[in-house]
Amino acid sequence: MIYSTFQDKKLSLLGFGTMRLPQTQSGEINQVQLEQMVACAFEHGVNYFDTAWPYHNGLSEGAIGRALSAYDRNSFYLANKYPGHQVSDSYDPAEIFEKQLEKCGVDYFDFYLLHNVYEKSMETYLDPRWGIIDYFKEQKRLGRIRHLGFSCHARPEGLRAFLDARGEDMEFCQIQLNYLDWTLQDAKSSYELLTQRGIPVWVMEPVRGGRLANLPEREQARLKAARPDESAAAWAFRFLQGLPNVKMVLSGMSSLFQMQDNVKTFAQPAPLSESEHAMLMDIAEGMKDSVPCTACRYCCDGCPMGLDIPKLLSMHNDLRFDPTITVIIRIQGTQADRQAVSCIGCGKCARICPQNIDIPAELKKFARACEQLPNWEQICREREAASKVDTKK
Ligand code: SF4
Ligand code: SF4
Repeated sequence: MIYSTFQDKKLSLLGFGTMRLPQTQSGEINQVQLEQMVACAFEHGVNYFDTAWPYHNGLSEGAIGRALSAYDRNSFYLANKYPGHQVSDSYDPAEIFEKQLEKCGVDYFDFYLLHNVYEKSMETYLDPRWGIIDYFKEQKRLGRIRHLGFSCHARPEGLRAFLDARGEDMEFCQIQLNYLDWTLQDAKSSYELLTQRGIPVWVMEPVRGGRLANLPEREQARLKAARPDESAAAWAFRFLQGLPNVKMVLSGMSSLFQMQDNVKTFAQPAPLSESEHAMLMDIAEGMKDSVPCTACRYCCDGCPMGLDIPKLLSMHNDLRFDPTITVIIRIQGTQADRQAVSCIGCGKCARICPQNIDIPAELKKFARACEQLPNWEQICREREAASKVDTKK
């Protein structure tokens, strides 16, 4: 197993994310299979397990807690998250935190994160009325949290704003990072920003919800020709292994097979060569099918509606390519009067664009697509229901 160093700890670079656990025919978490996966993880040196309040409709915490109860508490690190992005009306971090300890059957969390800091949730997390961060700092002082951090779906500018506000209290940050989002969602800027601020990076969605594990045949063949023994998912992990500030790669594994494939990949480092790296970037490029905005921002000053055109076009690209929850969260986190639908089609921007993009037409298409998007929370519920139906088949 490859290990990374985080302060006084030796972390397995591969962490077991518990958002997509194996399920039974009736859609419940398959505890027997989960325990086999946990045993396999321990056998191969994985020592980091990650859960969260909403995973599996609140059942993930108990399931992983039960699976880990067979092992010495000092032999693993357990991470959990505060769902400040989901709670509404009133915020009582103590109530949720106490329940989380109870559900997991532990008296402290090694790592604890503010879950999903993004444009819409940031205000809640920073609101002094709720005192969320101060509460968790106090739990850290009491030894009930060993390390405090946050997961972030914000654009780099949102991440910067949060770091400016409370970065000094955050010991690590979990972001969506993979070779496709490196440029597509500008994960590179987030990675570099965190590195500049001295904050270690935890990675979520390393294979982009499985998309990078299931490439088109032509791309699979290119990868197989270069490394016959490695899966497409392994390539995505190898890319991350080349980034020195990545201290944790969380993979939401759903089967023993995935666990076995992943521990094999993380058994020893096998960094990408320059040409392999270039090939991955080329594959990513081919997957983009995007509006060729270079974010030069020449068009922004003259927009009578004050729209952030490159930001809107970037989300338009993301949505066309792969409508992940993260993309939808970003779209729905955009202020109402800054959405694509506010474009009045004056065409000023298109006249100045060096890439000759028909911006009003693209924004119109994007606005139409946005209108049809269900709320991201609704998507989560539908996916959960669909996965249950799949399991029943
Ligand atoms: S066409 Fe739309 S985006 Fe372009 S300048 Fe006019 S209002 Fe702004
Ligand atoms: S001028 Fe064109 S390339 Fe530049 S930011 Fe605007 S849309 Fe993008």
